[in-house]
Amino acid sequence: MQNNKCPICNGNKEHSTTTFTVDLGTNLIVVRNTPATICTNCGEEWIDNTTSQQLEAIVNEAKTKNRMIEVIDFNLESVA
Ligand SMILES: [Zn+2]
Repeated sequence: MQNNKCPICNGNKEHSTTTFTVDLGTNLIVVRNTPATICTNCGEEWIDNTTSQQLEAIVNEAKTKNRMIEVIDFNLESVA
């Protein structure tokens, strides 16, 4: 059973998606549609372990492309 209260503001958390951004200085990696739990009150976001592992893999792959801005859709990447 999951705790649905935000530990910061005691607001309600809900499952949603967010845009995850990694700024590497020379390039920026943007992952859209990243699954996250988001507080509807203060907007704090939580990403679970499985998702962050997938994110790490996506970011590592994006780094090798070495583009200034790389925009990736989480859903498209995770099925690949
Ligand atoms: Zn909150």
